[in-house]
Amino acid sequence: MPLPVDFSQQVKSSTDIVRIIGEHVRLKKAGNNYVGLCPFHQEKTPSFSVHPTRQFYYCFGCGAKGDVFRFVMETEKLSFPESVRRVAQRSGIPIPASEPAGEQASPERRLRAALEGLHQKAQEFFRKQLQSPEAAAVREIIRKRGLTSEAVEEFGLGFAPGSGSALANFLSRQGFPPDVLEASGLVLRRDPARDPGGFFDRFRNRWMFPIIGEAGKIVAFAGRAMGSDQPKYLNSPETALYSKSHVLYNLFRARDTIRKEGSAVMVEGYMDAIAVFQAGVRNVVASCGTSLTEAQVRMLSRYGSEVVVSYDPDSAGVAATDRSLALLLEQGMSVRVLRLPGAMDPDEFIKQTGAEAYRDQLKAAQPFFRYLASRALELHGSNTPEAKLAGINFVLPFLAKVPNKLIRSELVADIAQKMDVNTGIILDSFRRAGLERRAAVHVSQQMVQIPPAEAMLVRLLLENRDACGEMSKLLEEHALMEELELQGIVSTILGMNSGGSAPDMAALSDRLDEPHQRLLAQIVFDKDARPVSLYEITSYINSLERRRLQRQRSTLRRQILEAEKLHDASRYVELLGQLDTVFRREKELDTELDTLL
Ligand SMILES: [Zn+2]
Repeated sequence: MPLPVDFSQQVKSSTDIVRIIGEHVRLKKAGNNYVGLCPFHQEKTPSFSVHPTRQFYYCFGCGAKGDVFRFVMETEKLSFPESVRRVAQRSGIPIPASEPAGEQASPERRLRAALEGLHQKAQEFFRKQLQSPEAAAVREIIRKRGLTSEAVEEFGLGFAPGSGSALANFLSRQGFPPDVLEASGLVLRRDPARDPGGFFDRFRNRWMFPIIGEAGKIVAFAGRAMGSDQPKYLNSPETALYSKSHVLYNLFRARDTIRKEGSAVMVEGYMDAIAVFQAGVRNVVASCGTSLTEAQVRMLSRYGSEVVVSYDPDSAGVAATDRSLALLLEQGMSVRVLRLPGAMDPDEFIKQTGAEAYRDQLKAAQPFFRYLASRALELHGSNTPEAKLAGINFVLPFLAKVPNKLIRSELVADIAQKMDVNTGIILDSFRRAGLERRAAVHVSQQMVQIPPAEAMLVRLLLENRDACGEMSKLLEEHALMEELELQGIVSTILGMNSGGSAPDMAALSDRLDEPHQRLLAQIVFDKDARPVSLYEITSYINSLERRRLQRQRSTLRRQILEAEKLHDASRYVELLGQLDTVFRREKELDTELDTLL
């Protein structure tokens, strides 16, 4: 059974669209609106606008538009009913009891829902196992690492027993069908010849870390080997829920702080993330792979524009760091690099010197290009011209990733000083290497001129249903609709209104063609819009009518002259009568305006 029709309206009206979109896009206030970088197309300057009271978003770059449900549908690939539920959940609105079991959902969505339930059950299982006698060794590690019981709880740490099929049996008893079990990746099918229908556990004798997706649900697990088992970390495979390159460990917990501080701390491993989080640094995320992916960086950049990279200083780590840093720069992130003294990783460092010392180190982390210059010096030295050249060549590709030319030339000066070379040499090498970026393609965002009073009229009609009735009468009585430049928009609003529906931006925009959608967005998101003045609108409509009357008058005069020539007396009298009506209407118009003053 579907949700009640008006439930989506209820959700929409009690949801803060800015908050929901703000979970995906970093929004800044601009007048009454919010703007940010569009999640639907690549851009460097924000053209994505969100209107908090109209409950509407529009991108002046690519034309993406809609309400909060459309946004969630498109960013999370959900159907309409699913997105209504998702938004209701996030806004804390109880979903009506007639919640369907999902018969209407697509098979993929049904599978995903089943997998989410399965991961939740698996999580309960792993956590319970952490208390078993078999997990004594894990509990000992947790104690030695100095993890508090709060951290164990917060991060949902658990244990996968070594028996081989404990989880598989548990999940089967919970009633998950074989195809769902298999799709979860947490268990694997046994050799069908020997044991048809049997499953065994992927994770055996491992310390378990649940991985939470952007929507706040467990989507995968990582298991750390207890002994010398290989690999040291084993992850869930790619499933309908989990794509490794699209998840950052701890982002779900960290994102509010990242948004607040505009900055994230990036570490390499699960243990680093937990230790740093426990040290009071709440904006920490972990890439949990050798190298960061573009999707992960883009996800992160929705919440903050600065990253402090705090990776392991070992040699494999450095190369991975360099690749990750290049990606961060390309996405326009501002990057600082923390190198801990004594070549320690964050987890070790915090254990040995304490949380406060680590936070101080974070504050003092050096800007990326200063770090890069010292790396160049370490790698190549600076004693000979050849060494300096090698150092410059090491730095150049990174410089090329900086999108902003001004920032780049400042960086060049900084690097030149640090490497003790002439700024000109670096700039020259840069040009000769052909690394100068072509100017970014400029998306035309020219605004169209709209008569201010018409823009005002549209805003009045959107705000005030009663005004719709009055204006509709006024415009129709005097046949003025065709005189409006925004006729398409105004008549659509009035049409929707007489049909009984409130002027809803998303629905309205759907009924317009693209040029009109853009015009409408321009009016709604106009930062400099003056408050609606009834006098101004009426006098504008009056002026339209005057214009129409003037045209009528000159037509009548011409027709009267013709009738005169043709000695058509009756026609002549009739036309004179019409002209008189025009005169009288013009007089009326004068007094109409006066009464408004
Ligand atoms: Zn866009």
